Amino acid sequence: MADQRTRVLVTGAGGFIGHHLVTHLKQRGHWVRGVDLREPEFTEVDADEFELLDLRRWDDCLVATRGVEHVYALAADMGGMGFISSNHATILRNNALINLHTLEAARVNGASRYLFSSSACIYPDYLQTDTDVRPLKEQDAYPANPQDAYGWEKLVAERLCEYYTGEYGLVTRVVRFHNIYGPYGTYDGGREKAPAALCRKIARAEPGEDIEIWGDGEQTRSFCYIDDCVEGIHRLMRSDHGEPLNLGTDHLVTINELARLILQISGKPDVGLRHVDGPQGVRGRNSDNTRLREVLGWEPRTSLEAGLQETYRWIEKQVRG
Ligand code: NAD
Repeated sequence: MADQRTRVLVTGAGGFIGHHLVTHLKQRGHWVRGVDLREPEFTEVDADEFELLDLRRWDDCLVATRGVEHVYALAADMGGMGFISSNHATILRNNALINLHTLEAARVNGASRYLFSSSACIYPDYLQTDTDVRPLKEQDAYPANPQDAYGWEKLVAERLCEYYTGEYGLVTRVVRFHNIYGPYGTYDGGREKAPAALCRKIARAEPGEDIEIWGDGEQTRSFCYIDDCVEGIHRLMRSDHGEPLNLGTDHLVTINELARLILQISGKPDVGLRHVDGPQGVRGRNSDNTRLREVLGWEPRTSLEAGLQETYRWIEKQVRG
């Protein structure tokens, strides 16, 4: 497969992962069209072409996918636990429309490869009830019981990709992200995720003040830095692996540990943690990277400390204005 100068579409290119991916693909010599409802909030457009389109609409999907060989489907109505746990109908409807229409339009317009961005949120609730959780393997997805509508929709869209490969021969790739974080992502407004929210709260905290943590803070997750994420996406697209694949780290931390690491980085040791009621998602979640290593001969390598340094410095700068 030719790697250089492939004509590529990135949907969700105004969003966090999408705009980083556009930059990554451009640096590797591809021609890139970005599509989103909005332009990137914190950076210039890096794509060769950027179109404002609503991918819930069939006609807009036809425009978005014309003349491209590869589609990276990242557009989604999404956010952190606060958003995902309280907008089930909206999320299911919007994301189902986006994915049904984008995949069909890609097929109609003759795209040769299609990568769908799924999520660790597809994994069943019953495997994620302890903080000391067993890392999730790809085959753990079934019997299915995701916690939220967000995960159910992702699971259906994964199956749709599988069926399009079977029925139409369209080559599809499915990546399941585990908590991606980094600079140039939403850090305020209600859709931000835990690392960005904690960086913002700590950057704004005065000496001696407490910052709020949702729940007891003992819920566990693994976090993956954005540079590793886009590298992994690009590698998976070029691989011959047609099954869903985890993309994350297997370094498990509690939310309290995450907050303490950011406090260290911030140089604000006298800021405290106050635990309040709030949506926490599953109790524990980690990525099993066995298949990732086998398939890509690679896995994310940025340490949490190094990734949080970059993220905190950027959010601190935004908060100071
Ligand atoms: P994001 O919210 O920053 O980006 C998603 C983009 O999709 C946004 O810019 C949004 O405007 C766009 N979008 C929404 N509705 C649209 C529509 N109707 N038409 C066109 N564009 C539309 O989120 P992100 O973190 O960059 O996530 C990218 C993808 O990765 C999403 O599919 C998300 O579900 C998935 N994902 C992300 C994470 C993570 O940790 N960030 C984890 C698992 C899965």
